[in-house]
Parts: sequence; structure tokens; C-alpha cells
Amino acid sequence: MADTTGQITHFNPAFLRMYELTASAVNGHYRELPISGLADLVIRTQSHPGEVFSAEVALTKERIGQAVATAIFKKTADPEPAACFGSALLIRDITAEKEIDQMKTDFISTVSHELRTPLTSVLGFASIIQEKLETDVFPMISTEDRKLQKTIKRVADNLNIIVSEAERLTSLINDVLDIAKMEAGKVEWQMQPIDPSELLDWATNSTAGLFETNGLQLVCEIEPGLPQIIGDRNRLLQVLINLISNAVKFTESGCVTCRVKQGSDGVCISVIDTGIGIAPEDQPKVFEKFRQVGDTLTDKPKGTGLGLPICKQIVDHHGGRIWVESEPGKGSIFSFIIPTYACDPKTTANLNLDTLVKQLKEHVITKNAVLNHNRKTILVVDDDANIRELLRQQLENEGYNVREGKDGMDAIHQIKTARPDLILLDVMMPQINGFDVAAVLKNDPQTADIPIIILSIIENKERGYHIGIDRYLTKPIDTEKLLNEIGSLLYQGTSSKKVLVVDKNASALKTLSDVLQTQGYSVIEASDPQECIYKALLAKPDMIIIDSIFSQEADLVKTLRFEKELENVFFIMLSEQ
Ligand code: ADP
Repeated sequence: MADTTGQITHFNPAFLRMYELTASAVNGHYRELPISGLADLVIRTQSHPGEVFSAEVALTKERIGQAVATAIFKKTADPEPAACFGSALLIRDITAEKEIDQMKTDFISTVSHELRTPLTSVLGFASIIQEKLETDVFPMISTEDRKLQKTIKRVADNLNIIVSEAERLTSLINDVLDIAKMEAGKVEWQMQPIDPSELLDWATNSTAGLFETNGLQLVCEIEPGLPQIIGDRNRLLQVLINLISNAVKFTESGCVTCRVKQGSDGVCISVIDTGIGIAPEDQPKVFEKFRQVGDTLTDKPKGTGLGLPICKQIVDHHGGRIWVESEPGKGSIFSFIIPTYACDPKTTANLNLDTLVKQLKEHVITKNAVLNHNRKTILVVDDDANIRELLRQQLENEGYNVREGKDGMDAIHQIKTARPDLILLDVMMPQINGFDVAAVLKNDPQTADIPIIILSIIENKERGYHIGIDRYLTKPIDTEKLLNEIGSLLYQGTSSKKVLVVDKNASALKTLSDVLQTQGYSVIEASDPQECIYKALLAKPDMIIIDSIFSQEADLVKTLRFEKELENVFFIMLSEQ
């Protein structure tokens, strides 16, 4: 305890042991304690005497403590206000709890990984069987036999159930894994400037189907002139989609309104429904893990109870907050705020380069319908035989030749003897992992230009792109996306791409072209619009990166777009701030 002047008045032997101090060291002002973090807490209790503050603090020998502090008051005769006479500080050693928590997180993530591999096979093969039966087998059985007709219908129905339940299980495991990853700090956040109204557009586009099936109306209210926010686009989209799906799920009739406006401390996004609402006592619980409010005995739970806790983790990571206001029977309003910062030019510059490289890597040529497969050969490298077989069947269905590699060594050996057109690579494999296989291939001029798609349960895109791989997809495999990516990569042919960079600032031009070259691009430079047009027509680049000043000045993009052979070029605009 310390008095209001900051003098330490009481302490116990446990405190001394925790910090390996002697009593004489503690007999002074709390600011003189050779301990970091505590002074800060005490100061806060003095400026906000009614509140309790807590923080994690470092103890000696790498142990961790949980410190709780509050102001203390002297009891006084009634009408007079209580007099504050100091602060009390309580520290508990929570090292063991933290370790157990970490073990729990590791356990959940290992188990979820282990569950995902077999589940990928179950879902993948069930979908193949479903498709084969529906397109090839059932139409062949034209029968009048009522019993056989009934059997066919039953088989089709049962398969539908297997597929949809496997999908449900997959999304449950994904949620569990997602939250475990966030708690363990293992999520790769990809922060970039985002336009809030675009975020809403994306979210409403991907949830449009829900509104159609449920006959609800969607209303969007966007305040004009909103500033950009800095955030992870996909993660914020996940929050918004989650809130909108919940609103639809818990609303019988009426409408769901998405409102985006400028709040006092950031951009505020609200999803408002006219549904069943949430009782006041349940409102704080909905952000807790595995909580589903209402009577779980009579109302069959319809989700995992992890959606909102995941949303909260995401919003917290952005330095924002999320909350609910609701009245049972009338509806609910879920809102979150993402703070807008005055942009620090240095971080934005870094940010732009990172996002730029990512955009380059991830851009998808949508015109791959014209693709001529020409029996391209794909090498599937995975140590799990079932997954290889699944991918083989899916790819053969699309008309590709498939070869299999059972591990890294086998893959490298096969690639050196007969070159495939594309490689699908798992990461976690015995002896030599997928990243190392990719590094070997990308460092050998003979194989450097073979496109590589990494398919992995672990999320480490940075590492993959650093090695120079072309796409990074996470398991469970989204077949449609995978086929799209394969299509667009094979359409491009080899994995080295030509980029034309246009910037009048010589040093910016140099930086950009260095960054791109280290990423395996061949770079052509131009310093003004005329040169850009000339070089673009001559070199036919796959992508053009333009300083936004130019793009407005000369209507460059439009001019280039109308050139034959350049209509599919991917443009990236660089803005100043
Ligand atoms: P779930 O996957 O179960 O929907 P969430 O974490 O997204 O998990 O939501 C937790 C619970 O909060 C839900 O089961 C539901 O009881 C309640 N809830 C969430 N959104 C709404 C809403 N818009 N209206 C009414 N209740 C809601």
C-alpha cells in the first residue's frame, strides 16, 4: 500500500520474494521501486479513484504477475464524502496459469489440425461422389421401378446430409482454430488502408444470398466523406459478415440495416435488425466463448457460439471496441468502432510496398475461361496419400494430368527428371518441409519459373512469398478457388512476370523496382506517361504500376486499356499518402 504522497506504507514478505527485494529497498516512494509497470498502475488509481486497474507485470526469474490496483478510502460520517488515503496493490503470480493457458491453446490447435486432414478427405470425396452420381450415374438409371426411384432419392438425400454436415463441422473446426490462433498471437495481420464504404459493399455482396432465401430487406446507410481506416481487410470483412449473418439468422421479418458513420473516436459500423433481440442480462455474455444465449434446452443451438468472440478479438486487435444494444422482441444493434489515426507517412510507405507485393501475387486473372488446358501436368506433393488421391481426382476431372510426390525429396527428384507445369505443395512433411522444397526449386534457374501453389494448414504467407512461391492457400481446400488459381497461373505460363513501373520520382522508381526484383519479377521502368505507353506496347507487361498523379493527368489507364493485347493487364495505382 502507498499513501497519497506515494510513500509505501505496508507490504508483505510475499511481495519481497516475488521481486527478490529486501525490506529496506521498499521503504520509500513507490516510484523508486526497481520494478517496471507498478508505478503506472498506482498513478492511474490516484487520477481515477473509483476504478480498479489491472495489468500483467514481469516478476523475477521470467515469472509473470497479475497486478490489481485501486484507491482506498477512509470511512467517514455519512454526508461527508469518503476520504482517499492511498492506493492498494495486489500482485498474484500467474505463471502457472499462463502456461496452462498456452498448453490449452496449443492443444486445441494441434487437435484441430489433426481433425482437419481426415475431414478434408471426407468432405472432398463425398463431394466427388455426389457430383459423379448426379451427373453420370443417376441420369443413366431411367426406371419405372418405384422402389429403385425411392432408393435413388434416398441416396441423394443422404449424401446431401453428409456433405452439408461435413461443411458444418469444417466451419466449426475453423472457428475453434481461428480463436486459438488469435489467442496465441499467431494470426498474420495484413494491415492496409481501407475505405469503410468499400468494406460494406464487399460484405453486402457476399451476404446477398442470405437475404434472398430469408425474404428480408437489406438497407445501407453510409455517411458521405468517411476517412480511410487502417485494418486487415479480410478480418474486418469477417466481422461484418458475421454480424450480418447473425442479424439475418435471428430475424423473422423486417429488415437489416447496415450503418456506417463517423464516430467521435473512429469510424462506427452498426448492424441493426428487427429480430428477437437479446435480454439485458444476456447481452454481455454473447461475446464470451461458446456462449449461446436463450434457453439452450428448448432452442436448438444453431451455431458454434464462437462468431462474436472472434469478432471481438479482431476488433480489439484494431484498437477498437464492439458492443450490443438490444431490446427483446424489438431487435438488436451490434456496433463496432475502428479508430482512424492521423497517418504516419513512414508506416504508410512500408505498408504500401507490402500490400503492393501481395496484391501483385494474389491478383487473379478473371479471364481464365478462355484457358486451353492442353493437358497440363500438375505435380501434387503431400505426405498424406488420401489428400493426394483427392486432389488427383479433382484435377483429373478438370482435364489435367496429375503426378504425385509423396514427400519433399521425392518431389525434387521428380521435378528434376520431368518438369511439371505447376506444383501443388504441402508444407508439413517429414524430412524436408514444403518451404524448403520451394526454396530449392526457386533458387535453381532450371526450375525457378515453375509456378508453385502452397496448400497448407499453417498460415505463414510471408514466409512463402518471401521464398517466391506464387500462391498460398490454406486447407481445408476450397476447390473452386484452387482451380481458379491453377487456371490463372497456367494461363500466365511461367511464374516470372513482367511489371512496368511508372513513377516520375527516380528514387521511388528505384525502390519499387528493387523490391519487385527481389520478389522474382522482371521490371521495366518508365518515368512519364509517353514513355509508359511506348514501353507498354513494346514489352506487353503482365502488370503496370502507376503513380496516381500520372493516371489522372493523362488518362493513361483508359488509353492503355483500349490497346489490343493490353486489355487484360492488371493495373495498380500508387497513391501519394
Ligand atoms: P453463433 O454461431 O451461435 O451464432 P455467435 O457468437 O455469433 O455464435 O452468437 C452468440 C449468440 O448471441 C447467438 O447464439 C445468439 O443467441 C446471440 N445473438 C447473436 N446475434 C444476435 C442477433 N442479431 N439477434 C439476437 N441474438 C443474437
